[in-house]
Amino acid sequence: MIKNLEQIKRLISNDIGIDLGTANTLVYLHGKGVVINEPSVVAVNQKTGRVVAVGKDAKQMLGRTPGHIVAVRPLVDGVISDFEVTEEMITYLLNKAQKSNKKLLGPRVVVGVPSGITNVEIRAVRDATKNAGASEVYIVEEPMAAAIGMRLPIMDPVGNMVIDIGGGTTDIAVISLGGVVRSKNLRVAGDKLNNDIISYVRSEFKILIGEKTAENIKISIGAILPGDEPLEATIRGRDLISGLPREVVITDSDIREAISQSINTLVDGIKEVLETTPPEVLADVMQRGIFLAGGGALINGLAEIIHEYTKIPVHTALDPLTAVCRGTGIILENMEQYKDVLITNKDELPPKK
Ligand code: ADP
Ligand code: MG
Repeated sequence: MIKNLEQIKRLISNDIGIDLGTANTLVYLHGKGVVINEPSVVAVNQKTGRVVAVGKDAKQMLGRTPGHIVAVRPLVDGVISDFEVTEEMITYLLNKAQKSNKKLLGPRVVVGVPSGITNVEIRAVRDATKNAGASEVYIVEEPMAAAIGMRLPIMDPVGNMVIDIGGGTTDIAVISLGGVVRSKNLRVAGDKLNNDIISYVRSEFKILIGEKTAENIKISIGAILPGDEPLEATIRGRDLISGLPREVVITDSDIREAISQSINTLVDGIKEVLETTPPEVLADVMQRGIFLAGGGALINGLAEIIHEYTKIPVHTALDPLTAVCRGTGIILENMEQYKDVLITNKDELPPKK
């Protein structure tokens, strides 16, 4: 019976999963997979208040806009900084995802949100998604969605530990029986590492580099543990004293020094969660390992350093950047099985430490 009802709903409305990340927004369309993967950036005309561009197009405009157009990231540090812009972004995504195949009813949407989100923000996401045309809205915490995307047995009575390292936030969560047993939300993630690199280059080389440059060198030569060969990159920036452009060569060892403090914070956060995890669940985690997702999981050597400090095996998701979005897709396709992991109100969640 339930199965038939599900089939009917699927015929008359699209099922869509959204990973509303601080850095990247991904959309899953039932039957198609991940159909949209764009930066979480919206360009707004401040004179009219209207959205001019979303995603890649808006990111292109960053730093190149005339005074009255501003490019904003609607989710700063994992919280919704601008409700209207978020709504416009969701509208754009829903339209784009269903452009060739609109159905009778508005889509049923599962939205992944950062675990640090408050009740007010959950309501804001729900309202924004409804206003954007959804017929039904379900909310799931991102570490839960990431765990489902990695096909971890989160509904079983066994402890699963997931760390989702995104742009603005790192979510550390221990999950069992479809619920979050312990979790922690850190503001140390990819963006912080970029800022660490900018600060380091400013103080060591006396040049100013942009965020994009910092991110590029983090990705190209960043490594938490030294390799056999040193890595180098040439970066261009503005000399702080002369004001003119200058080039310097930066090495992986510079990057290591720049980001070491943040990596320590991350490892300490993981240890804290482990220290307060109940012994039975901890035993499961020690045996099954820690699972990494999110773009930050791709930093070279991160899995090794976490293993070194915790003595627990560490596994990185096959495609860490899409784990949350794939998780929302799996939820959509197995609504009955996963209905208990969806949240309507933060009060319904088990108590957190
Ligand atoms: P969010 O979920 O917050 O949108 P993502 O999971 O999309 O974040 O991850 C974005 C972050 O991952 C950015 O800070 C980006 O610099 C970082 N990132 C992406 N690829 C790599 C890589 N190969 N090495 C290191 N960091 C990476
Ligand atoms: Mg994310």
